[in-house]
Amino acid sequence: MTHRARKRFGQNFLHDPGVIRHIVSSIAPKPEQHLVEIGPGQGAITRELLRATGSMDAVELDRDLITPLAEMCAPLGDLRIHNADVLKFDLCSLVAPSAQLRVVGNLPYNISTPILFHLLERANCIRDMHFMLQKEVVLRMGASPGNKQYGRLSVMLQAQCQVTPLFEIGPGAFKPAPKVDSAFVRLEPYATLQVQIKDQGYFSRMVAQAFSQRRKTLRNSLRKLVHVETMEELGINPGLRAEQLDVETFAQLANAACKTDPPS
Ligand code: SAM
Repeated sequence: MTHRARKRFGQNFLHDPGVIRHIVSSIAPKPEQHLVEIGPGQGAITRELLRATGSMDAVELDRDLITPLAEMCAPLGDLRIHNADVLKFDLCSLVAPSAQLRVVGNLPYNISTPILFHLLERANCIRDMHFMLQKEVVLRMGASPGNKQYGRLSVMLQAQCQVTPLFEIGPGAFKPAPKVDSAFVRLEPYATLQVQIKDQGYFSRMVAQAFSQRRKTLRNSLRKLVHVETMEELGINPGLRAEQLDVETFAQLANAACKTDPPS
């Protein structure tokens, strides 16, 4: 396939057969499973997934890649390619109401965080997700409180999914080679949330606000959203910073604060 990699589409194509094998064995695809790949590109992972399942979906934005990909994959199985922006695509529309998707992708790094948040909104139809991402993003996804990588992404993902970083990959596995290291990660949405959240929109706003000025204390960063008394009633010290609060405590705080009028 002759194609000039487009930077604006975050195109860094995998070419290392050992890394591709490692990715596919970590996913362990089975014929009865419904897989969808985000950004199949030139088919480096798609080919192997299709060989294993015989049928799958893929969402690719770059229309120049669609025909060559379809031709290359035709002998391997039924690949349904959707020429669309995944951020505007409802993955749940691909699957029957009772079934669940397995989502896979070597994601375009420039929009990986918006893609993760988009998928979180549709987590109810997703069994698991396996992604290649910038290593630094994977560190943030799996970080624990007190760690300097711990932030909004850690809290929002860990509230809904089990996050398991799997392995790291150097730039040489891709063409063109990215300037950063990469890592492969598994996300498994909880069937029953470990921490119940009453108002997801409020929780999301509060977490974003708390980390928007991460050096500030909760008393200051959440000044417009949460009364100091609400924190104190829950035994949360208003002098703490957001990075010191675990996911469960964020949920408790949001659940209590969403019921009260915001401070004036
Ligand atoms: N899966 C291929 C591989 O591993 O070699 C390509 C991975 S490349 C890092 C990212 C892929 O995502 C490219 O094919 C790119 O065109 C596609 N892409 C970029 N933005 C996208 C979007 N918003 N929606 C769907 N696909 C997108």
